Amino acid sequence: MVKLAVYGATGRMGRTIINLIAKEKDLILVGAVERPDHPAIGEKISSLFQGEIPEEITLEGSLSTLQLEQVDVVVDFTTPQAALQCAQICQESKTALVSGTTGFDSKQQEKFENIVKSIPCVQASNFSLGTSILFWLTGEVTKRVDSQYETEIIEAHHHFKKDAPSGTAKRLAKIVADIRNKKSKEPSGEFQIKYGRAGQTGVRNQKEICIHSIRAGDIVGEHTVLFATEGERIELTHRASSREAFAKGALFTARWVKKKNPGFYDMFDVLGLK
Ligand code: NAD
Repeated sequence: MVKLAVYGATGRMGRTIINLIAKEKDLILVGAVERPDHPAIGEKISSLFQGEIPEEITLEGSLSTLQLEQVDVVVDFTTPQAALQCAQICQESKTALVSGTTGFDSKQQEKFENIVKSIPCVQASNFSLGTSILFWLTGEVTKRVDSQYETEIIEAHHHFKKDAPSGTAKRLAKIVADIRNKKSKEPSGEFQIKYGRAGQTGVRNQKEICIHSIRAGDIVGEHTVLFATEGERIELTHRASSREAFAKGALFTARWVKKKNPGFYDMFDVLGLK
């Protein structure tokens, strides 16, 4: 049995995860945490959700009010600031962490990695298992086509998403840039990641990898990596049609990380794609 606490419990992802935990026989919800000023703090979680949720659990306003020695894994889908607080508390209590929050700047990311290195932690900008395959395929295609295949990344999400471009799009661009920069012996400089285009842009710079972000309606999450050259193009696309794809992947990861030694892991570790 894996005992889980969900941090960001009433958010879109938190709710999806709690509903899924209630359906899984080997998982049990032992804690649910929200921001301290959330109006439902103190209410029974069973009154907020459907399914088999233990009666005694109330919505907490802080992770540190839980008995963390009774929690195997904390699952976090919140905001970068809250995720850093969560990482700190998990580190102090030596509790494993699955973190799906996106939108960290580079300083926050560095701080996060520093905090979690002494606990088992998996961080992923996208927990859907299909997206990990997209990351892997993007690397494989980049290795096999030359840089005449110009690469652009298009991502689409719902209108509530707070950060752009998505963490997944940034990682896809970095995979392409890192492989091309390693392969390239040209003196004309490194491949650069760019965000969108407007105005008199001139002809396309061969050394750019451009990310385009769409925000509209209820789109759950879509990513396309396009490799185009004269006469043909390759497109790799992943579409998540429901948040369950992320929630299932996060819970698959929680089962995996429970058995791991302290370390900072990603989905390639979880899925054996390294
Ligand atoms: P959301 O806004 O619906 O939910 C976030 C929740 O976090 C809210 O309920 C909010 O009250 C809560 N929260 C904020 N501060 C808190 C604190 N200090 N303590 C506890 N809870 C706190 O957002 P969402 O759509 O559920 O997404 C959450 C995060 O997960 C975002 O960064 C999003 O980009 C990311 N996300 C990641 C994946 C993935 O697979 N990695 C998938 C979907 C979303």
